[in-house]
Amino acid sequence: MILSPVEIAGIGMTSQRTRDRMMDRLRARGIENEAVVSTMGRVPRHLFVDEAMATRAYEDDALPIGEGQTISQPYAVARMTEVLLENGPVERVLEVGTGSGYQAAILSQLVDVVFTVERIRSLYEKARNRFRALQYRNVHTRHTDGSWGWVSNGPYDAIIVTAAPITVPEPLLEQLAVGGRMIVPVGKQKTVQTLKVITRTATGYSTVDLSDVNFVPFLSGKS
Ligand code: SAH
Repeated sequence: MILSPVEIAGIGMTSQRTRDRMMDRLRARGIENEAVVSTMGRVPRHLFVDEAMATRAYEDDALPIGEGQTISQPYAVARMTEVLLENGPVERVLEVGTGSGYQAAILSQLVDVVFTVERIRSLYEKARNRFRALQYRNVHTRHTDGSWGWVSNGPYDAIIVTAAPITVPEPLLEQLAVGGRMIVPVGKQKTVQTLKVITRTATGYSTVDLSDVNFVPFLSGKS
């Protein structure tokens, strides 16, 4: 994928004014970390969805990205990112559920390095092409079932799971550094899921429930 400057900057509905409105909405909904808000204003979300959807890219909605999956709503991306950064600077992050690649792109601007895994090949390939075209050089991707994490690059200061498992996979807990935090929506589909923050302490794990959420299911195996 080769993008012209016009495509990268965006035209019409994807203009800076449209992005500024998204930033104002995030602040109005309570996002306080200005580094997160300004990053969301800079990263071209319209390039993470199909062209037909681009005019809606800066509205506060989840959008279809194919294969029955969705790009997360901007507010959810901002909130989860803000929570991950709450305890100060983060170096290494693992994301499970690359999807469009948007969440990873946002994180790449705010941490040292992002490792992101996706179980559906076509989504993995599209996201990898976007990271290349947009030159997000500190994002590393892999086509794999994230139930097993990505052990060779761990432990991670932060883990973000963008699909909802019924219970948190043990390998992800094990790959969290002491003092690190995981943000993960937990629960069955078609019921209320709970967004949880799990912090690894010297002796175990402590969990805080943040809010009710609705994410696509966390599935095992590759496709
Ligand atoms: N973070 C993404 C959100 C995509 S939706 C974005 O910003 O666009 C969640 C993604 O998780 C889907 O693409 C789905 O295929 C993927 N997923 C679900 N279970 C998974 C698993 N076990 N391992 C890796 N990816 C998984």
